[in-house]
Amino acid sequence: MIGFRAETGVSPVLSDWLDLARGLAAVEVVAFHSYQLMFMEKLPSESYDPAIRLVYSILWTLSAHGPAAVLVFFVLSGYLVGGPALVRSLRGRLHAVDYFSARLTRLYVVLLPALTISFCVYISARQSAGWQSYVSSHQDVYNSALIFHASVGATTAICNGLFLQTIACSEFAGNLALWSLAAEFWYYVLFFALISARRTPAYLLLILAVFGLFGLAEYHDRSGTHIGMRLLFLFSIWCFGAIAYAVIAPIRVWCFGFLVSVAGLYALASKGLLPQWAAASLAIGLVTAAFVVGIDYLRVSLPSWLRAGRELAKFSFSLYAIHYPILLLLNVTVASGRQDFTLASVGLDASFILFCLIAAGIFYFVFESRTSVVRDWLKGIMLRGIAGGGRIFRPAVIGDSARAPSAPASGRALTIPGVGAKPLLQSSNAGSPSMMRVASPQAQHGSTAANVPMVLLNDGHSLPQLGFGVWQIDNANTSEIVAAGINAGYRLFDTAANYGNEAGLGAALKRVSLRRSEYSVTTKLRNEDQGYERTMRAFDASATGLQLDVIDLYLIHWPCPQRATYVETWRALIELQKQGRVRSIGVSNFMADHLERIVGETGVTPAVNQIELHPAFQQRSLRNVHERYGIVTQAWSPLGQGRALDDPRIRAIAERSSRTVAQVILRWHLETGSIAIPKSANAARMAENIDLFGFELTSNDHAVIAGLDRPDGRIGPDPAAYGQMRILRRLIGARPRRWMRSRSCAADER
Ligand code: NAD
Repeated sequence: MIGFRAETGVSPVLSDWLDLARGLAAVEVVAFHSYQLMFMEKLPSESYDPAIRLVYSILWTLSAHGPAAVLVFFVLSGYLVGGPALVRSLRGRLHAVDYFSARLTRLYVVLLPALTISFCVYISARQSAGWQSYVSSHQDVYNSALIFHASVGATTAICNGLFLQTIACSEFAGNLALWSLAAEFWYYVLFFALISARRTPAYLLLILAVFGLFGLAEYHDRSGTHIGMRLLFLFSIWCFGAIAYAVIAPIRVWCFGFLVSVAGLYALASKGLLPQWAAASLAIGLVTAAFVVGIDYLRVSLPSWLRAGRELAKFSFSLYAIHYPILLLLNVTVASGRQDFTLASVGLDASFILFCLIAAGIFYFVFESRTSVVRDWLKGIMLRGIAGGGRIFRPAVIGDSARAPSAPASGRALTIPGVGAKPLLQSSNAGSPSMMRVASPQAQHGSTAANVPMVLLNDGHSLPQLGFGVWQIDNANTSEIVAAGINAGYRLFDTAANYGNEAGLGAALKRVSLRRSEYSVTTKLRNEDQGYERTMRAFDASATGLQLDVIDLYLIHWPCPQRATYVETWRALIELQKQGRVRSIGVSNFMADHLERIVGETGVTPAVNQIELHPAFQQRSLRNVHERYGIVTQAWSPLGQGRALDDPRIRAIAERSSRTVAQVILRWHLETGSIAIPKSANAARMAENIDLFGFELTSNDHAVIAGLDRPDGRIGPDPAAYGQMRILRRLIGARPRRWMRSRSCAADER
């Protein structure tokens, strides 16, 4: 069990339960919490039915409210979430930039409406007459606006600003909620630093700086909330939990810690050192934590009737986003205990509240619908900062430095495992904006796999930039051909359920002497298997055929828009990735509108789109869309199924650079930032196709190849229409006519 968890992070069983808890907590926050605030209560009072109190307290604890529950939450999340994530990052499966940009994006959706309201309050506080009298009766809010006045002092202002005390100055729930958002932000920063420190130890300084900031805030604390001290304490515990998980056998340590905590709790409460409510809350928190760990240990699956509740987790951020502004407004009304309700003052309140809600609502809807754009933008800025410049959503290609003097020294280092390249980030342009210099490790010819650069995907994983397609190779021959491919240096193999050779590829890979981490396998979902449940089953069949526990890249083969199932199919891929059964997920043959739809509806961007791409069909606008989303382009039929090899203009370039036509075309793919997966069953051609790293194309060569693009250059079917025939056939129960069959099969076989 320990091995499994260390390998994949939180187990699927536990992750289902945690999702349910998160979903319920979000509902609790909005419903119970608002109700509770209106009646100025903190926990259900004695007058409540005991059963309600118990349920309420559990929800309260799960949603991390109350000082004791916050403590439990930090212990729990450090141990159960931070720890596994740290392990994943240590194994290169979680990319710090990806993590941080995704988290910040979610946070900003919540934060902006809340800040909008804060700003409205501030503006109103500066008005005379009606507004002034309104605000002065809400002293809390008015005081909080003092942050904007110079008299507070610059340091205090900065500290308060950093912890959102501007709007989190009282102990009321709305403010507490904003405080917890600030805490969440620092949690992300710390975790980002923690997982980045593995590659760049200098990030340890960032951790120290954050802790220093907490100390500074404590020193300058004017409001008496001891916010700095609290954060210092909570984050120390959290870091300890995460690191303890990563280095020590989890379950035993947890059990020991649990027993010690319960004993300590009992001792404190019996001596009257801990208030009754705090003891109860802490005990419930601990029992909840033990319950969660127990579920994980015993592998108790979430019952099917509770699965729907798990879906709530998806909406938790939206619920929070609505919740914070509402609570702040309730706070405004409740905080002063107003008695002076007149028609005029109520009208003023109502219009003020309405205005705030509309402003916050606009922010929320405008920004919520743009989260993926914002995430990509943030990620771009971060990668640029780390890599020291260059275009960002051009996939970061990583290779050796011998021919890359301009590559930044701070580049993240990746190599193809087991082939020993010296790595360096390389993402500078060579002339045209759409061009990219490929790392060229050796100046001489005769390059092998050691030279294939790695491409960083948007999920933090990476793939070799050159792979080997096995379409039209039958099971019987696969073993021999794949062995030849591996000898030639290929480490990325592209198959599909439809190619009928997953079993052959799996058997071939079992026979070679590479470690699992040294090669990557892509496979694709058959069109007929689209749909959530069918996809799950089809994935099992593919994984069994390939004899792999984890597939490196799983793609939806075609969108087949007429089936209208690609979104739910994409959800199934997301679930498979969540369960740790597939490392990266992507699509194939998706057009811009298909991409937009799956990203819009699920919030998850594919890592890869594998599309038909060769000199006669360059798909520039789709590649621009990829660039915007941070999707890596994979080129299928990169040699145009051999047709591109006859082009006299490319032959001229090949002759000038003493290369073959195939090499020039494949080099062009690499320099434009795509991953190419040529296919050949011939050992000499395999070697030729990977020997691409001793030369570069000039910008003139690029201009010549750019001129070969043709609107009618497509060889395969049009993805917008493909799939229609088969459905139609099914509906009318007819056998395909000959031309239909060949067209359909040709596409499916791909
Ligand atoms: P390709 O462009 O790789 O061309 C293959 C043809 O070119 C073969 O006939 C081969 O013998 C020939 N060739 C290869 N290297 C050569 C060389 N150096 N000199 C002369 N001839 C050479 O076309 P492809 O096989 O269609 O595509 C490659 C891979 O892409 C497939 O194996 C498959 O994995 C993938 N693919 C995916 C889809 C999809 O829908 N996702 C569709 C088609 C192909």
